[in-house]
Amino acid sequence: MIIADCHLHSEFSSDSEAPVTAMLEQALMHNMKYFYLTDHHDIDFPPEAANGLTFLLDTDKYLERLKELKEHYAGRIEVRYGVELGLMSHITDKLYAYTEKYPFDFIIGSSHLVRGIDPYYPEYYEGRSEIEAYREYFQSIDDNVHAFHDYDVYGHLDYVVRYGPTKNANWNFKDYADIFESLLKKIIADGKGIEINTAGLYKGLGYPHPHKDILMMYKELGGEIITIGSDAHTPENFAYGFDTVEALLSSCGFRYYCIYKDRKPEYLPI
Ligand SMILES: [Zn+2]
Ligand SMILES: [Zn+2]
Repeated sequence: MIIADCHLHSEFSSDSEAPVTAMLEQALMHNMKYFYLTDHHDIDFPPEAANGLTFLLDTDKYLERLKELKEHYAGRIEVRYGVELGLMSHITDKLYAYTEKYPFDFIIGSSHLVRGIDPYYPEYYEGRSEIEAYREYFQSIDDNVHAFHDYDVYGHLDYVVRYGPTKNANWNFKDYADIFESLLKKIIADGKGIEINTAGLYKGLGYPHPHKDILMMYKELGGEIITIGSDAHTPENFAYGFDTVEALLSSCGFRYYCIYKDRKPEYLPI
């Protein structure tokens, strides 16, 4: 029984219109014990890359709202403070300034941009092979985890595969294993984790992020910290596919998943 959806968006994100309370009510309906909102904060997101959306979070207002809700819902569900922070190695100073300023419980570090381009858009794949485009995305994650250390888990590690010309039809882990070995070793050595993100299920992959090949390598390298999130931007996708996640984790040999408080992992049995 999974008692928290650790990756959720609301109207505080540029790409969601869901009222925070609508997401919170979903959490109550699903008998969750904790509510984590992880709205987007992407520093230096070029507006032209997202139809004018900025993806900057009004963090003071956001935390103020969450504090109100924490008090209002006390005794029914525990509200914790999360954020999904867009990572890029060249903005490390700005990222540290941000994470040191705010009292988050949980920070998902994610890659939404490579060289200022969101792999969501076809231009990212132009003029090169799909493998080259995917490798560049994974290499940027490796660069990020070596440059920045103030995140808790890395989000949707194979996000790029959702948008490639053939998506996962030609997925072969061998094409990327060298990069994953490097980045997963760094994540583990730094005491960080990764997430199971079930958006892969409802966004065309047919399985949650990351692919089981990546999960298995993480396990073999000694990785233990895994959070679980739906990445829902609407109430309907709250806890999407969570019934399949427990079986997936068990089949890879994991016996625990994690939730975070004050930036520290708490281990819960699957
Ligand atoms: Zn994301
Ligand atoms: Zn997200």
